[in-house]
Amino acid sequence: MKCIFGEAQNAHAPVRYMRYGRIGEIPETPERVTRLLDGVSRAGLEIAAPRAFPLQHLAAVHSQRYLDFLEHGHAQWMKVPEAYPEMMPSIRPLERPAGYPDNILGRAGWHIMDFSSAITAETWESVRTSAFSALTAAELVLNGEHAAYALCRPPGHHAYPERAGGFCYLNNAAIVAQHLRQKHARVAILDIDVHHGNGTQEIFYARPDVLTVSIHGDPAHYYPFFYGYGEQRGSGDGEGFNLNLPVLVKSKDDVWQQALGTALQRVADFAPGALVLALGLDAHEADPLAGGAVTTEGFTQMARMIAGLKLPTVITQEGGYLTPQLGGNLAAFLSGFQQR
Ligand code: ZN
Repeated sequence: MKCIFGEAQNAHAPVRYMRYGRIGEIPETPERVTRLLDGVSRAGLEIAAPRAFPLQHLAAVHSQRYLDFLEHGHAQWMKVPEAYPEMMPSIRPLERPAGYPDNILGRAGWHIMDFSSAITAETWESVRTSAFSALTAAELVLNGEHAAYALCRPPGHHAYPERAGGFCYLNNAAIVAQHLRQKHARVAILDIDVHHGNGTQEIFYARPDVLTVSIHGDPAHYYPFFYGYGEQRGSGDGEGFNLNLPVLVKSKDDVWQQALGTALQRVADFAPGALVLALGLDAHEADPLAGGAVTTEGFTQMARMIAGLKLPTVITQEGGYLTPQLGGNLAAFLSGFQQR
């Protein structure tokens, strides 16, 4: 299996982040990549650079004005004399808003949903390259590789069609799923990050051709709070094609594997031509975001279960934050997945 990663992904490195009213250091840092690459090496994957793709691949799941905002918004922001170099909104529309503002502070509020997704001068280059890594991995699978791993940093599964949030700007897993649709009539996305994949859910919510399944900490007690409930099952033609499997916060291996069994049965029943695996490692027991209690060995076991689907699979990296075990957890997962 190959790992796809581009150095430009690490230029994005905002430092500001707010949680519980406290402005602190953001957990989604370039150091994550150092540790994840160590895991990639330990699992024996060959590392390759992404190639560039036309931006219409991104526009297939994101609005053009959002892509324009990601590309040019920061330069506009920096024309405001008192602006801090990390673009972060202080006002957001809560109700369904009618007017798309011209003012950059208004646009920042429209397009950024929380205090964990600041935009710097480097963000566009990094998120675009992260999406290119995902698309390059997808191309490998479209061309016959059984599986490929995209080391996507920044991650993507909280990104909406035109909204950044939860350290995510472009929804890499959704971009991959849409790309795989050119060959496969049905594609499934399985998300095992400890946070609900709310952006991915929204992108495909009304569609029956892309099944979205997410296992995550119960949103009644955990980010993203408003999304990820079991009754959110899809709408219109997509009804029944979104499956949320919330588990109690700090659940251990047995609970996660039971939920995964349910998820895999649903995926098998859907009979997709390919799978996108949104791989978060933040359900680990030592992760600082404290949403799960999965062990390193538990990741190996879950990987073997998922590999048992025997589907062509594109793996996109989602969360998983700084612990001494981060690289080992990725190695444990990738090794287990390759032992099919
Ligand atoms: Zn996460």
